[in-house]
Order: sequence, then structure tokens, then C-alpha cells
Amino acid sequence: MSDGPKIRLHVDHPLATGERVALSRDKAHYLFGVMRLTEGAEVALINGRDGEWRAVVAEAGKRGGVLEVAERTRELQVPPDLWLLFAPIRKARTDFIVEKAVEMGAARICPVQTEFTNAERIRRDRLQAHAVEAAEQCGGTFVPEVEELRGLAQVLADWPEDRHLIFADESALGAAAGLAAAPDAAKWAILVGPEGGFSPAERDRLRALPFVTPISLGPRILRADTAAVAALALFQAERGDWR
Ligand code: SAH
Repeated sequence: MSDGPKIRLHVDHPLATGERVALSRDKAHYLFGVMRLTEGAEVALINGRDGEWRAVVAEAGKRGGVLEVAERTRELQVPPDLWLLFAPIRKARTDFIVEKAVEMGAARICPVQTEFTNAERIRRDRLQAHAVEAAEQCGGTFVPEVEELRGLAQVLADWPEDRHLIFADESALGAAAGLAAAPDAAKWAILVGPEGGFSPAERDRLRALPFVTPISLGPRILRADTAAVAALALFQAERGDWR
């Protein structure tokens, strides 16, 4: 991307040659007020669906502007069908998990409330905005959806059985419990617990389910945010798109 446009922007607009994208006040302020772009400047656009496109500033104003879409520079790259289920923790660490999940190629981000989860609510729209920013920044063309917070028991009760769940189990600490034990599957999910870990009842329930494989993330206890990144890396390297 070194010789292409430096700025990548996500817009909620269809992207195709000749499309004219009207800019919101915020985006116009960013492009023309902060980044000082003028008419004729180039930006890269993504919308999460149509790949990446080169666009040219056609009109630049204080409160608005128009970008004209030129040509596609990258096809849409959809990550493996992998959901990340995690228990939200304090705000900054939850933001971190969402950002890293996008960089690491999760297809969907699912906050779940476990017995030892402190957070009662999440700001889904704010987390979704973080996901968009992460995609802009990491060169991604796909933006995973952030779901509303749901209870773990309910999530498991509604589970689609063709999706295999990899469960980061801190009680498997150091045991040689790896992804190799998981079957071949086309649809996946990773579950990481909160700082307080899983309750014994949750662990028993998870371990008894036919679509669940517990895995160890090594001999040390990782913080929940570290565990999410480690589990995603392990998956992408062994079963995902790093291969
Ligand atoms: N308080 C718990 C640790 C929680 S760590 C305890 O002391 O036992 C937060 C989450 O990260 C865990 O629920 C688990 O999903 C994951 N995790 C951390 N370290 C791990 C490891 N070594 N192996 C597997 N999962 C781990």
C-alpha cells in the first residue's frame, strides 16, 4: 500500500466506479480540517462489503464534501468463519480486545456475560466504531459485526451445532491440550473467559458439550485480553488464514 493513498476511510455507501460519496460533517472535518486534503487528493475507501477502492476528492468543504470513486484496489477479503466470544472487562481492555480481534481476523465479535463477568452492559455502537477504526488502520476490507451482550448460558442453549467452539480453559494450564484435538470444521468460535475465569459449573457444562474442545494457552495464566489475542493467533496459524 506504500504508493497508494495514505488515508483509509470506512464509509457506509456502495463502492463502484463513478459513485459519489457525500461526506458527513465529521469525515469532512477529518479529511479537510485535520488531514488538510484538497480537491484532487486520493483516499482509499472501504465499506466492509465491496473491497478497497481508490477515490478522489471532488468537493472539499468545511461541513461536507464529495469523494468520487475511481477503481477497486483490493478485493474483499473475508476472514475465516471464526467468532470471538469474550467476557467484557474494564472499558479500555474491552476496546483492546475488539481492536485486536479485527486485526487478527475474527469474522464476528460476541460479548458474553459469564458468572464472573462484572460488566452488565456494553456500548455496542462504540465497540462497533472501534472495529471500523481497526479495519481502516490494519488494511482490512472486512468489518466484523459486534453483537449485543448475551448470557453465556443462553448463547450455549442457542448454539448452532455445526459451529465448533474452542474453549480457552485456564484449568487446562500447561496440559498438552491443543487445537489438534478439534475436528475439521468450517465454522468456528473461540471462547475466552473474564479475569475471574470460568465458574466450575460453566467449565463442567462446556466440557460436556459435543461441539466444544478445551484448549490450553500454555503454562502461564494470561490476562483475558492477552488470552484472546493468543487464541486467535493459535487458530489462524493452525486452522485459519495464516497457513
Ligand atoms: N482468574 C483465573 C484466570 C482467568 S484468565 C484463574 O486464576 O484461574 C482469563 C481467561 O483467559 C480465562 O478464563 C481463559 O479463557 C483464558 N486463559 C488465560 N490463561 C490461559 C491458559 N494458560 N490456558 C487457557 N486459557 C487461558
